[in-house]
Amino acid sequence: SRSQDTADKEPNTLQLDDWFHASARTEVSTLTNWSAPIVWDGTFNRSVLEDYYSKQKVTVGLTVFAIGKYLDKYLKTFLISADSFFMVGHKVIFYVMVDDLLKMPLIELGPLRTFKVFQVNKESRWQDISMMRMKTIGDIIESHIKYEVDFMFCMDVDQVFQSHYGLETLDESVAQLQAWFYKADKEKFTYERRPQSTAYIPLTQGDYYYHAAVFGGTPLRVFNLTRECYEGIIKDKERNTEALWHDESHLNKYYLTNKPTKLLSPEYCWDYKIGKNYDIKNVKLSWMPKEYGVVRSN
Ligand code: UDP
Ligand code: MN
Repeated sequence: SRSQDTADKEPNTLQLDDWFHASARTEVSTLTNWSAPIVWDGTFNRSVLEDYYSKQKVTVGLTVFAIGKYLDKYLKTFLISADSFFMVGHKVIFYVMVDDLLKMPLIELGPLRTFKVFQVNKESRWQDISMMRMKTIGDIIESHIKYEVDFMFCMDVDQVFQSHYGLETLDESVAQLQAWFYKADKEKFTYERRPQSTAYIPLTQGDYYYHAAVFGGTPLRVFNLTRECYEGIIKDKERNTEALWHDESHLNKYYLTNKPTKLLSPEYCWDYKIGKNYDIKNVKLSWMPKEYGVVRSN
C-alpha cells in the first residue's frame, strides 16, 4: 500500500520503499513488528538518499559530553573520526559539553562542520554525569538545537567512527541495538526489573535492548525523550533508588511505550571485543577500549 499511489506522491517526500530494501539482508531481521526499518549494511540505497537530502539541505546535530578524564582520553579521537565519517557532504553542528573549556582539543573541521562548546558542571559520581546528560541535552535543544538542525544524534564519547555514518540513519526517532544483546532473548535483557524504579520493565515485556550510547531523531522527539527520562531519574532519586543501567534503563523504558521509527543494527555501534560475527558486515562506529579503573576513579 505504501507505493500504490505514486501518482499522488508529493515530489518532496521520501518513502521507505524508495531507499530501503528489507529483503537485501536475509540472515537478520530488518523490520520490527511495528514496521520500523532496522538499518543494516546493504539495506539502503545511498544515492537515493543523497539525492533527496541534497535538495532538502539537511543539517544534522551531534551532542557529545566529555567530562573529567573522558575529556583527555576520548574527545579528540571521537571528533576527528566524526569529522571524517559522520554525515559526509552535509552540514553538521557538533554540540560539545565539557567541564573545562581550556581542555577543548583544537581540531580543524571540514568545511560543512562547526562546533559549539558548552561548559557544564561536573557531577561527582560517574552515574550522575551519565544521567544528567538527559537534562542538559533537553536544555540545549530548547536554547539552540531546535533552531539549528533538522535531525540530531546524542552519543557517548568513548567511541570512534570507522566508516561512513550517513543519511540512512536519519528519522523521527532513532534507537541503537546494543551489540551484546541483539541476538539475546528478551528475558536476558538487562532492563530494570525492580518495580520501585520508574524504569521497571516486567520480564514478559520488551522489544529490544537499546544502547544509550547512540540515540537520535528530530529535535522535538529527542526533547520529549530526554525530558521523560530525566523525570524518571528524578522520581527514582526521590524514592532513593537508581536504575540498574542508569540513563540506559530509562531510555529502554521510554522506547517501550514510544516506539522508535528506525532502529540501527549493531554495525552502527559495535564492540570489537565480541569477536567475529558474520552478520556484522561493515562497522560504522565502534566502542573504544575502556580502562574502567582509570576513567572512573576521581
Ligand atoms: N561521561 C563523561 N565523564 C564521566 C562519565 C561519563 O564524560 O566521568 C560521559 C561520556 O560521554 C560517556 C558517557 O557519559 O561516554 C556515558 O558513560 P560511559 O561511557 O562510562 O558509560 P558506558 O558506556 O560504560 O555504559
Ligand atoms: Mn560509553
